[in-house]
Amino acid sequence: CVTMGPSRLSPLLCVSALLLPLVSPMTRPKLLLVSFDGFRWDYINRVPATNFHALMKEGVQVEQVENIYITKTFPNHYSLVTGLYAETHGIVANEMYDPALNLSFSMETDSVYDPRWWDDAVPLWVSVQKAGGRSGAAMWPGSDVKIHGTYPNRYLPYNASVPFETRVQRVIEWFSAPKEEAVDFAVLYWEEPDESGHLLGPESPLMDGIIADVDKKLGFLRTELRKAGLYENLNLIVTSDHGMTQMSNEKMVELDEYVSRDLYTWVDKSPVVGIIPNEGKFEEVYSKLLDANPYMAVYKKEDIPVRYHYQHHLRIMPILLEAQEGYSIVQNRTAPFMLGNHGYNNSLRSMHPIFVARGPAFRQDFVQPSMQSVDLYPLMCHILSLRPLPHNGSLFRVKDLLSEAPPTPAPSAPPKPPSYSYAPVIGSMISIVMVVGFLIFYIKEVTIKQLPALPRGSKEMSQPLLQEDLYLHFLETHRGCVSVRHI
Ligand SMILES: [Zn+2]
Repeated sequence: CVTMGPSRLSPLLCVSALLLPLVSPMTRPKLLLVSFDGFRWDYINRVPATNFHALMKEGVQVEQVENIYITKTFPNHYSLVTGLYAETHGIVANEMYDPALNLSFSMETDSVYDPRWWDDAVPLWVSVQKAGGRSGAAMWPGSDVKIHGTYPNRYLPYNASVPFETRVQRVIEWFSAPKEEAVDFAVLYWEEPDESGHLLGPESPLMDGIIADVDKKLGFLRTELRKAGLYENLNLIVTSDHGMTQMSNEKMVELDEYVSRDLYTWVDKSPVVGIIPNEGKFEEVYSKLLDANPYMAVYKKEDIPVRYHYQHHLRIMPILLEAQEGYSIVQNRTAPFMLGNHGYNNSLRSMHPIFVARGPAFRQDFVQPSMQSVDLYPLMCHILSLRPLPHNGSLFRVKDLLSEAPPTPAPSAPPKPPSYSYAPVIGSMISIVMVVGFLIFYIKEVTIKQLPALPRGSKEMSQPLLQEDLYLHFLETHRGCVSVRHI
C-alpha cells in the first residue's frame, strides 16, 4: 500500500494492516488539537498573549511551521490530520472542480458533505476509531463528513454561530465521559482571528484586540481543562492553518486586461487561481497570461514546481496562476476587496501559523526553530500510540519536542502521488511461476513416474488431483493479494 499513488485509492485497505493499536485503548494518552484559524506565528508578540506564553513555558513552541501549498483553510486543515500534501489528500483548494465526478466543491455549499471529496485520505479521527479508540470533533473542517463511512464518535455539525465556549464545554464532556465512552483524541476549531484578519488586515491596530481575545479564549480552555481535572494529563496542541498578509487595492492583477473571460473558467480564486481554458483554447489562454503581469506567475499544470507538491491530482487545474504576496488576481476591479488575505506561497513567513504544545508527551520550555505542518500527523500518531498511515511528514524532524525520544527514528513512508509501483506485483508473479514450476516438476517427476506402479483405477490416483487442488488454492490465495495491489 505504501508505494501506491493516492488518487481514487482506498487507504482504508491499508488501515487494518498498519494501524494496530500499540497499547490498550484504556491506557492510551489523551490528545486535543486546537486550531485558531489564521493565527499567524508572530501574533503572540504584538500583545501580551499571556496564555500562549504560559503554554510555551509549560511546553514547546515551534517558531516557523511551513504549512502546505496552497495556504488556504480546507487544504491545510486536512493536511494537519492526515500528514499529506494537498495533491495527495485531494482537498486541493477551498473551491474545487473534479472532472471525473463532474462536480464542484465549495465551502459555501452542501458539496462539503459529499465524502467523495475527502476519501482520498484517512483523517486521524477515523484511524483512532479503526484502532479501537474514540474521537471527538468540534467544527474542524471535514469532521462532520462521513469520511470512509465514519463520523467521529462525538462531533458538532458545523455552525459558525456556536460560541467558542460551548465548543470547549462539549470537548471537555467528551474527554470526561465514563472510561468506555471517553474520547482519546479530539479536534477543536475556532474561526478567529482569520475572519477579522480578512476584514481589518493583519497590520491594523484593531487586530491587537482580536488577538487578545483569542488569547483569552485559550485561557478559558485552560481554565476549563483544569476544572475538569484534565489539564495535567492531556496533551494539548494549539496551532493554525495559515497566517495572513496585508492587502492593498493598489495591488491588483486584472485578468480581463489580458484574456477574454469567455475563453476560460476559473475555479479557485485569488491569490492562487485554477484556470480551465475552453476546449481548444489552452495555448491561446496560456500564451496571453504568460508574462502578462510581473506580479503573477503562470504555470502549466505539468510545470508547477516540484517543491510545491501541488501537481498530481486531477482536481488541480490545467493552468495555475499565483499572485505575488499582497497582490490579488481578479477579473476586474468590481471584485470584493479584503484588507487581509492568505493562500500565497507557503515559503512566505507571513503565511506560517502558530505552534505551541504542552502535556506529558512534550518537553518543557523548549523552542524549536522549524518544522513542516505535515510532521504533526506522525507526531500525533506517536503520542496516541498509533502506527501512522503513509504520509509526507517526519517524526524525526519533531522528535526533539517530545519528553521521551521515540524508540526508533520513524522512517516516513511518503506516498508517491504520480507513479504506481509494479514491483510487488512482479514479485508475486515470479513467486507464482516458481511454485507452478515446482508443482509441474513434482507432478511430472514424482507422481507420474509412480503411475505405472499403481493399479489401474486405484484411489491413489487422487494424489495428483490433491496437488492440483493445492495449486488452485495457492492461485486463489495469491490472486487475492495481486488484485488488492491493483486497486
Ligand atoms: Zn483558514
